[in-house]
Amino acid sequence: MTSEADEKRAARSLYVEVEEAEWGWRARSESGTEYHLVLDPKSGQLQCSCPDFVYRSDMAPDFECKHIRALIYFLGRRYLEILHHLGLGYDRRGRTDN
Ligand SMILES: [Zn+2]
Repeated sequence: MTSEADEKRAARSLYVEVEEAEWGWRARSESGTEYHLVLDPKSGQLQCSCPDFVYRSDMAPDFECKHIRALIYFLGRRYLEILHHLGLGYDRRGRTDN
């Protein structure tokens, strides 16, 4: 279910910069505050060090803060680059190989 708060959070996620780091990823908001994101090996879920995530994820395990949403955008673009690089970006129906 999408609430107004969810939509505002999604809009703000567009103003977050994401880059790779040794432990996972680093997200920087417009204000310059940096947070750390990791992929939890047990749950397979993304976790963020921001107060919003730390507070809300206790009550809602599927909660995605604006940094996690920005990271998903970032990863989506990287994935598309990889598909393009591998030549998988166009009509895969005729392919007989995997
Ligand atoms: Zn966050």
